[in-house]
Amino acid sequence: MPMVEVSAIQLDALAQGLTGLEVGDTKLLFVREGNDVRAFQGTCPHAKAPLADGVLCEGRIICPWHAGAFDSKTGALLEPVPLTGLQRHAVRVIDGRVLVDIEPMHTDALAPGDALAHAPDDRVFVLVGTGAASASAAALLRDDGFGGRVILVGPDAAEPLDRTQLSKMALAQDAFDRSTLPLLDDELQKKLKLERIVARVTAVDPGKRQLTLSTGETLAYDAAMLATGAQPLALSIEGGDLPHVRTLRSLSDVDGILAHVEPGASAVIIGTSFIGMEVASDLIDRKMNVTVIGRDEIPFAKQFGPRVGAALRTLHESKGVRFRLGTSVQRITLDAVIVNDESLSAGLVVAGLGVAPVLDYVPSLQKADDGGLVTDTALRVADGLWAAGDIASPSGWPRIEHWRLAQQHGRVAAAAMLGRDACYEGVPFFWTAQHGKRLQYIGHGRGDGDIAYDGDVEAFDFVAWYLEGGKVTAALVCCRDRIAATLSHALRRTRTLAEARAMVGLSAGGQ
Ligand SMILES: Cc1cc2nc3c(=O)[nH]c(=O)nc-3n(C[C@H](O)[C@H](O)[C@H](O)COP(=O)(O)OP(=O)(O)OC[C@H]3O[C@@H](n4cnc5c(N)ncnc54)[C@H](O)[C@@H]3O)c2cc1C
Repeated sequence: MPMVEVSAIQLDALAQGLTGLEVGDTKLLFVREGNDVRAFQGTCPHAKAPLADGVLCEGRIICPWHAGAFDSKTGALLEPVPLTGLQRHAVRVIDGRVLVDIEPMHTDALAPGDALAHAPDDRVFVLVGTGAASASAAALLRDDGFGGRVILVGPDAAEPLDRTQLSKMALAQDAFDRSTLPLLDDELQKKLKLERIVARVTAVDPGKRQLTLSTGETLAYDAAMLATGAQPLALSIEGGDLPHVRTLRSLSDVDGILAHVEPGASAVIIGTSFIGMEVASDLIDRKMNVTVIGRDEIPFAKQFGPRVGAALRTLHESKGVRFRLGTSVQRITLDAVIVNDESLSAGLVVAGLGVAPVLDYVPSLQKADDGGLVTDTALRVADGLWAAGDIASPSGWPRIEHWRLAQQHGRVAAAAMLGRDACYEGVPFFWTAQHGKRLQYIGHGRGDGDIAYDGDVEAFDFVAWYLEGGKVTAALVCCRDRIAATLSHALRRTRTLAEARAMVGLSAGGQ
């Protein structure tokens, strides 16, 4: 391929591994392994994280913010959160100089190569739900060359969108640009040839391979994936159904909360869940007086341990959040929340009590003890039927409510729908952001084992290691993006604490 526009860089200027450079106006990521040099777009297609701040790990470029992983040779997507791979730029090394083409090799970022030249196929694949798992499955189906119909069914016409931003950016800032919310913008939807039905599925007949829709119509499928997510638990106390008592799952929920937001007025959050505490942070940004009521004495102690939980509580308090902990709400009136016979003024109440999987339309399918749909390791529920995301309890795993995991499920289920060998082997990963502190949790710990720390928990610059039987089951990382990115891959294998620390360049108790 002739190089249209070329810029020269000295090979010596490129360190081994990842280097970010601006060539003209273009941000590029250079990957150097020995004298082999490749160049890709410089930012992650998901949230535009600078990829040079990530890591190169066993042939993967791993994004520093949300652990998306790309093949370091081709740029192809290996792990979400992104839905597409990296655009690649042609590179030649001549006489110690690196020549790079500023124009990408392919305008199609879904995958390098002509991934969208699909062979005709008369099968119909239906993705039920338009959230994280379905968007990811749709992208994989097309990326893998599926040429049949792909139909997404769900009741919310605004979706698929990035739900994780709702409790972080969308609620916190008027200036937030909502055009960044869609997961599959119009151009990508067109490219992927996705069909969309705005309706709820009310029944599934796996024997007939048929779905019934809330419109009364039926929809036949060759393969279907159920990914109907979860819904917030309602407050079953007096006043729990008043109009200023809100929950948060969708974009319309954001607007419902914003309608009651008023600087200087009082809001009460019920529940110290991730959603509850992220909303507390948002409402402080909105200059509201915020009180959080929770049953646990220390927020997040069950998930992160008491030390990190206490540090998070102190962080919230330092920003003005007040707490009533170890207690429950008695009732809610039009302008107050009653707790321990105390009346807390509240023109807005947000309940963050946790969620329940949405499975009312499949009463006869088998459920696990944790309430999820029982699946095999490839997320298969029955012949031609798969389940993914918040509703799935795959063999060997509990039901987990994380964005990236739902996307990983979607990719595994989609690969299995195409007849490929597929099995969920990834590492669960989630993140939360509160008062400007981003915490990344990698792995799956029970929360009641030993915990070791590196760095300074109270200064929010640390790694907490969660251990069972001397092995690391999970890690919580704050302000150390490269460590989080490395662990998102390294914890695929069981590690001792010493091994895990060595992999990320830490010695015991080191900084
Ligand atoms: C505000 C908020 C912030 C979050 N932030 C984070 C975060 O920072 N990090 C993280 O890891 N996780 C986060 N989560 C959790 C994460 O969003 C979920 O784990 C993830 O969305 C699950 O994906 P899913 O595809 O299973 O379901 P969802 O994304 O919930 O999608 C389910 C879809 O099914 C549709 N549906 C429901 N019933 C039916 C039906 N009967 N027929 C058809 N369609 C139906 C819904 O309308 C929806 O489109 C957050 C959740 C919320 C609500």
